[in-house]
Amino acid sequence: MKGAIIPCSPPVCHKQDWKKQLATAITDPGALLELLKINKEQMGKGNAQSLFSLKVPYAYITRMKQGDPNDPLFLQVWPHDAEFVTSPDFIADPLEEKSSNPIPGLLHKYKSRVLTITTASCAINCRYCFRRHFDYQNQSYNDTAWNSWADYIKQHPEIDEVILSGGEPLLLPDDKLARLLQQLELLPQLKRLRIHSRLPLVIPDRITEEFTALAKSSRLQWVLVWHINHPAEIDDAVQDAAKLCHDAGIVQFNQSVLLKKVNDSIEVMQKLSERLFTNRIQPYYLHLLDRVAGVQHFEVTENKALKLYNQMLVELPGYLVPKLVREEPAKSSKTPINISEAPI
Ligand SMILES: *Cc1c(COP(=O)(O)O)cnc(C)c1O
Ligand code: SF4
Repeated sequence: MKGAIIPCSPPVCHKQDWKKQLATAITDPGALLELLKINKEQMGKGNAQSLFSLKVPYAYITRMKQGDPNDPLFLQVWPHDAEFVTSPDFIADPLEEKSSNPIPGLLHKYKSRVLTITTASCAINCRYCFRRHFDYQNQSYNDTAWNSWADYIKQHPEIDEVILSGGEPLLLPDDKLARLLQQLELLPQLKRLRIHSRLPLVIPDRITEEFTALAKSSRLQWVLVWHINHPAEIDDAVQDAAKLCHDAGIVQFNQSVLLKKVNDSIEVMQKLSERLFTNRIQPYYLHLLDRVAGVQHFEVTENKALKLYNQMLVELPGYLVPKLVREEPAKSSKTPINISEAPI
C-alpha cells in the first residue's frame, strides 16, 4: 500500500461482493494514516482503538481527502486521543436502554414500534456511536431469538412496525434476512418494516438484487433510514444504491448526528439536505449527540445547534429541514428541541 494512491483495488472499482469488502476493512490506525498521507505527529497513534476498535472499509476511505486531518469522514472513524477524556456527564448507557430491553435483542421504548438488535457488530466503527458500550454479548441473534420476538409482538397488539437496527442489520446476508422477513410477515398486526443501517452508505454494493427483490415482494411497506452525516459521503455508488432502493419502492429517510467539526455548519447541512433529496432520500432527524463516554469532543452545544437550525429554516424549504431531536431515557418519543419563535 506504500505511497499508493487510495487503492482503486477491486473492492471499489466494480460492483463487488460486499462481504469481501467487509473482510478487507482497515483496522490498523497506522495503515489508515499511510493511505491518507496524514502524519502521526498531527493525529497521534490512534491509541483510543483500545476503547473501541478502528474499522473502516475501503469503499468509505476513497471518499476521504488525502492529506487532510480535518476531513469530515476521517474524523468520524479516527480513534482520537480525546476519547480518553472522562466526564461524569458522559456515561456508558446514557439512554438507559437496559430498562427497555424486555427480552434479548429487543427494545420496546416507543408504543407502536419495536427496535431489534439484529447483529452484534457494524461495517464501520463510528467514534461517536451511542452503542459503543452496548452489552451486545447479552443479546441474542438467532432463530430462537426471532421466535421470542414474534411472541412478544403478538402479546403487544399496539406494535405495528418492526425496526431492524444494530449493530448493523444489513450484515445479515440476504437469505437470512429473507427468513426473518418471512417470520415477521406472518404477524398480521405488522404494517411496516424499517431498516436503520449505515451499510448502504459505507458499502453501497450491499444493495444487491436479492435485497431489492425481497422489498418488492414483501407485503410490508419498507422504510430504509440512511445514516448520512456529510454530503461528501454521497458518491456515485451511493447514488446508484439509493436509486435501486427507490425503484424497489422502498421509502428512504435520513438521520444525522450533529457532530463538531464534521457537520456543524449551515453550508454543510444545507448541501446535505439538498443532496439527499436529489437522491430521493427525505431528511428525517438531526440528532443531538448522545452523551456516551468517549465522545465529548464531538459535542455541539444546544445553543449552537439551535442557531444552526434557525439558519436551516431560513435557507431551506420546510420539507428539507430534518427534525432537531434528542434521545432521552424513559420518554415515549424522541424529544424535539424547540425554537421558541420563528427566525427573523
Ligand atoms: C429512535 C428509536 C425508535 C424509532 O423512533 P421514531 O421516532 O419512530 O423514528 C424506536 N425505538 C427506539 C428504542 C429508538 O431509540
Ligand atoms: S453504524 Fe451505527 S451502531 Fe454501528 S458504530 Fe456506527 S453509529 Fe454505531
